[in-house]
Amino acid sequence: MNMTPITAITALAFLALGAVACQSDTAGERVDDSVRTSQQGLDNEEGEQGQMEPISGSDEDQSQSKTGEESADTIDAGDVPPVGSELELSEGEWRERLTDKEYRILREKGTERPGSGELLDNKRKGIYYCAACGAPLFSSRAKYDSSTGWPSFYATYEPGRVAKKSDRSMGMERTEVLCDRCDSHLGHVFDDGPEPTGKRYCINSKALDFKSVEEITSESEE
Ligand code: FE
Repeated sequence: MNMTPITAITALAFLALGAVACQSDTAGERVDDSVRTSQQGLDNEEGEQGQMEPISGSDEDQSQSKTGEESADTIDAGDVPPVGSELELSEGEWRERLTDKEYRILREKGTERPGSGELLDNKRKGIYYCAACGAPLFSSRAKYDSSTGWPSFYATYEPGRVAKKSDRSMGMERTEVLCDRCDSHLGHVFDDGPEPTGKRYCINSKALDFKSVEEITSESEE
């Protein structure tokens, strides 16, 4: 079809208007997405939105704690060994209980390759338990992306769950993190974490068992 110059200009004007309209729609979606993302961040209580330890209580408390700096984390860890309880097993019993990889990390202070852990990018809401004894150690609320290649937390689940020990191996001066209940090696803690604690608990995925809130709830209903 042949267009006169006027028809062509009119058609171009319509096309240009259409393009502007699409851009505004897209921009609108972007704004909505960012709002949604930031809301999800609050809902999931991930990253740096959480508060100081201890971390325990009910879901109802959790909604109230979103703005309260001093509120406790409220993900219920279910039926767990009490703080201060101990589990001592022989090396043979540990070998039987753990896989080779778990044994290497938990009982021989091994370290998994950065970026290789299956819990590194886990963003589900729940609790990270000791893979050796089942004690609750960390909550999803305190998990954040440290870009180090290991799951990182800025706080423990509650006081008394994790023990610390000076570690001068490999020519470095570090602080080792162990499960207080069974003395298994978890990783290390550093002072370069985010607010509110400034701590970075750098933990091996293999040292942790994760359970989502749904899994914990359905287990406690059984
Ligand atoms: Fe343990």
